[in-house]
Amino acid sequence: MWCKKCEKEVYSDVCDTCGSTTLKDIPFEVYWCNHCKTPLIKRANDNSKKICGLCGGQTEYLCSDIRPVFPEERLLIELLLDCPMKYSDCSVWASNNKYYFDGVTKNIPLKLFADADTPMLIQGLNQFKEKNTYSSFDKHIKTFIRANSDRLDYIRSEAYSFIRDTASNYPSENTVISFSGGKDSTVVADLVVRALEKPNLVHIFGNTTLEFPLTIEYVHRFRKNNPKAVLKIAKNKEQVFYDVCEDIGPPARMMRWCCSMFKTGPITRVINNLYKEKQILTFYGIRKYESVSRSKYDRVSSNNESVKIQKQTVAAPIFDWKDVDVWLYILSEKIDFNDAYRLGYDRVGCWCCPNNNERAQFLSKVYMPEEYSKWRDFLVSFARKIGKPDPEIYVDTGKWKARQGGNGVSASEDIKLKFTNCTAEDNAKIYQLNKPITDSFYSLFNPFGIVSKELGRKLIGEVIVLDPYFTYHRIKSIAFRSLFQ
Ligand SMILES: [Zn+2]
Repeated sequence: MWCKKCEKEVYSDVCDTCGSTTLKDIPFEVYWCNHCKTPLIKRANDNSKKICGLCGGQTEYLCSDIRPVFPEERLLIELLLDCPMKYSDCSVWASNNKYYFDGVTKNIPLKLFADADTPMLIQGLNQFKEKNTYSSFDKHIKTFIRANSDRLDYIRSEAYSFIRDTASNYPSENTVISFSGGKDSTVVADLVVRALEKPNLVHIFGNTTLEFPLTIEYVHRFRKNNPKAVLKIAKNKEQVFYDVCEDIGPPARMMRWCCSMFKTGPITRVINNLYKEKQILTFYGIRKYESVSRSKYDRVSSNNESVKIQKQTVAAPIFDWKDVDVWLYILSEKIDFNDAYRLGYDRVGCWCCPNNNERAQFLSKVYMPEEYSKWRDFLVSFARKIGKPDPEIYVDTGKWKARQGGNGVSASEDIKLKFTNCTAEDNAKIYQLNKPITDSFYSLFNPFGIVSKELGRKLIGEVIVLDPYFTYHRIKSIAFRSLFQ
């Protein structure tokens, strides 16, 4: 929070120096010092945003958020642009497909990723591997850390006090860290363990069976480097992803059955087994800048009516952090992280997720060619099976991600439930039931999330199913409305 009068960061609604009310939602932005060749994280209303704290020179606005580009990704982009090692001494940063080389913007068109000659790129990566060192990168990161030390001090101590405050109502044996192997939960695990000085907390890793090999390697390293942490692995051992795909078709953006089946379901089972009826507190790495729907959620939320997990409170210590803050913390504190980020992935969920962007698809083609072609072959044969005229184009242009119904899928012919589309709302279906809705009916939806009657609009008999465990995907809700209760 920001005190306008004192022009400084404060931790509460009232400034501890002057007593005036503080401002909450002043965004942080990224400025560039061309002398130090480094990004500076500054409040949009901070008068000093135009001056570099290191050299005193003028800064200029760069963008709203940014991530570092590691030497591995830099080389791949250079190969794509046909200029290997050209930017090896530069300070290189990116947001989405926009790259900044020493502060100069370069957009990489998506077509360049889609049309890339990947075998040539792989050859180039091997050819320059030895030459492509971290010496220049490390030098630029040192400057970045020095230039943003105030920001680090603020976000770190603010997160510490949030964590201590939130955890004070729970015994430490009922405190859980949700750990995905991604950068956000890596930071949360580190913050919580340090703030509470409890290295032996329970960490739950949901292995979706669709993780990057680098994520699994990182989790193994994490276990080795944090011998006191109790690491529980949640995994669906009954189902095989490809078998389910054969049966009901691949997941699509609007039909991400894989999340509940391979991620949230197994995590819920582990938590229920460990804690049964106990009140628990889960820290997780959700951030509001990840998606629009997340921005509406609170930093701490509890739902005592929940059926799925009895009495759970979830808390997000880095809710307000930007990507650049997460990297500032990881690189300053020198904590180990998932190597997939070095290659250029900006999120490390399941490698076949229909929510992954074109760049992630391109990276998988380069770094996981076997898995990539197995998955593509499956998608092409699926497209053929459901009668798509150009199955390869349907797959390569990403149209499979937009699939909505079960047309052509064998399981859909064996109809147990019929629905009509709702005309008033997108993505809503109308089912006619032959019995009144009871609590046991709602309990059938427990695998999808927390069944909450409290959150729904009572007047129309609305019941909402919420899933608070997503680390990579948008929070999902299913709403039931019944006019005859
Ligand atoms: Zn400077």
